[in-house]
Amino acid sequence: MNIDAIAQDIRTASRFDGVDLQALAGHLPTPFHAYSASAIRDRISSLQRALHGTDALICYAVKANSSLAILNLMHEHGVGADIVSSGELWRALRAGIPPERIVFSGVGKSEQEIAEALAARILRFNVESHDELLTLQRLAASIGITAHAAVRINPDVDALTHAKISTGKAENKFGVSIEEARRWFAEKASLSHVQLDGLHVHIGSQILSLEPYREAFRRVAQFWRELEAAGHAIASIDVGGGVGVRYREGHDHPVDAAAYVSVVRTALEGFKGRLLFEPGRYLVAEAGVLLTRVIRVKHGEHRKFLVLDAAMNDLLRPSLYDAWHDIVPVHGETRTMTEYDIVGPVCETGDTFARGRAMPECVAGDLLMIRTTGAYGASMSSTYNSRPLAAEVLLDRGRYAVVRQRQSFEDMIAGEQPARHWETA
Ligand SMILES: *Cc1c(COP(=O)(O)O)cnc(C)c1O
Repeated sequence: MNIDAIAQDIRTASRFDGVDLQALAGHLPTPFHAYSASAIRDRISSLQRALHGTDALICYAVKANSSLAILNLMHEHGVGADIVSSGELWRALRAGIPPERIVFSGVGKSEQEIAEALAARILRFNVESHDELLTLQRLAASIGITAHAAVRINPDVDALTHAKISTGKAENKFGVSIEEARRWFAEKASLSHVQLDGLHVHIGSQILSLEPYREAFRRVAQFWRELEAAGHAIASIDVGGGVGVRYREGHDHPVDAAAYVSVVRTALEGFKGRLLFEPGRYLVAEAGVLLTRVIRVKHGEHRKFLVLDAAMNDLLRPSLYDAWHDIVPVHGETRTMTEYDIVGPVCETGDTFARGRAMPECVAGDLLMIRTTGAYGASMSSTYNSRPLAAEVLLDRGRYAVVRQRQSFEDMIAGEQPARHWETA
């Protein structure tokens, strides 16, 4: 990227959803996460527009960002939830999302979690193993209700993404093979309280090419046609999530909603049931930034380190997946370019946001923003090194609202106590 482009970046970085970031960081201590409501609404409507005229339900993957404020925003726009735990069920209901717009995914649903979701009368369970199917049948029978289930197909396709976020290969823990799913349908008459009438597939995350989708949906479609021919009615096909976003300007080229939806439509041509979508990252990632200040510039033996007040506990993706995030200054000045290793204060070498990154020169106190942190940012954060969870702020056309207070030290140790009352088990 040339200097002109950087300067352009700097100008565009000073405001986010109409809010002056320097001024905002004057009110709130860094680090904090900021989310643009306009950007989220934009993504929701792109997808809704692409789906116009289709019987479809968007179930936002809550794990991407489970902030109540964001769940509220989803609900306001008719978006449901894809949950993977009781905690997410609780949050989704708390945000007002009706149970008939909630689907439950995940390989390790406990009996307790299944029972709670049954009691809440959620729309559908995406079932990932035969044992789970039998557990669902037993628990549904015990309270006398019929659960709707989809089998999660593992189509054995390579999503061409990072190994840790690939979920649709035979060696991954997710879903079952088509051969196994075929047996479930053949034996479904033995399920008195589970209506097995759906298919589900989710092949991975941060997918930047349509090809893996085409292949996965082709296999699912072929199976759906086979099932219909055998007399098994399929009421819904859930195509999962995974649509990638731009983490690196000029480098990542995400697919657009219309092209993605047209791949789904083409593959499932003639399907009369309902389509379910489970986007997470696509809806929120680019709507979020992490604001952080430079604590100091440290000149090492061989490298220059930019030490930030944000760390891996606030944004784990670079440490966990070697993920790239664009990092840009918010000061609006033109400065000489240099190269830094950009790190946090946590006592881990892995607490590194970028290595050898070209940046305008920085000084202590400079405000920077780490981009595309709206998904798998705050939701993956921890209090490692006893760093309280960062604040989260929703921005909307020039205004802002704190939607999560920065955690206090007292909140951080809530539930902890010295070992005073010893008991025997
Ligand atoms: C994580 C997940 C999603 C969302 O993935 P994104 O890449 O964030 O869109 C959707 N469905 C299931 C089953 C998931 O586990």
